[in-house]
Amino acid sequence: MKLCRFNDNRIGVVRDDQVHDITPLFERFGRPGWPYPAYDWIVGHFDQVRPEIDGFLPGAQRTPLAEVTLRAPVANPGKIIGAPINYDDHIAEANADRQINHGKHFVSLDKLGLFIKAPTSLLGPDGAVQIPFPDRRTDHEVELGVVIGRQARRVPRERALDHVFGYCVALDMTVRGPEFPGFRKSPDTFGVIGPWITTADEVADPNALDLDITINGETRQRSNTRHLIFNVQHLIEYASAMYTLMPGDVIMTGTPAGVSPVSPGDRMVARVQGLGELTMTIAR
Ligand code: MN
Repeated sequence: MKLCRFNDNRIGVVRDDQVHDITPLFERFGRPGWPYPAYDWIVGHFDQVRPEIDGFLPGAQRTPLAEVTLRAPVANPGKIIGAPINYDDHIAEANADRQINHGKHFVSLDKLGLFIKAPTSLLGPDGAVQIPFPDRRTDHEVELGVVIGRQARRVPRERALDHVFGYCVALDMTVRGPEFPGFRKSPDTFGVIGPWITTADEVADPNALDLDITINGETRQRSNTRHLIFNVQHLIEYASAMYTLMPGDVIMTGTPAGVSPVSPGDRMVARVQGLGELTMTIAR
């Protein structure tokens, strides 16, 4: 199932170029009151709604996909987790390029750990990436995004996929520089996800998906998630050893070689096999 958020916070199922509005299925839960839960309310209630969706769809209001405004498919990720060096070819390019490494030498993910992108960095297909420092290098990083569905703490990798809600295309936008990744990767609009969430039951193996990105029509990155050093299960084990993962948390799994600077007016088209195509511009 392809689940989107669209227009004025409607929840939709994308099927055959139509968006079917299933918002009414969530209305019985009432909206959460303060203090608001540190997870995504729609993802957190989805298991209760899922059995009713097939019966609801024939009567649901539908709108052509081309006529809706798609928002980030998770509205409130409690956290967005990033894996900084998770493809060998990206480690090699980073170590070879002073503009990327800024004097650091990268060895392996388990030496460096993960980083957190602020939830305020979130952006969906409706927006544009805003470059905060026009005089500094800002790069695209296309990645597989993993959306957590069930609370997870100290999950062994054998059971990790039980905690996955679904997958999406992700862009881990990055200012290059010497500062901590959590600073350089967290500006507003730097955590891009979309165009929708493809639920986990439709993804046979998340560690075998082609991914690529074009900038103004030119391919810059092209790889397959089989080259992930820490695969999806291993990342969930690693992250959940440190943090409780909550419904709606997003893990950006790392980027392959080919990162490069973007400029105002650029048009990025990012794809992950089976998860759709995410088009994003860099604001002028
Ligand atoms: Mn990244």
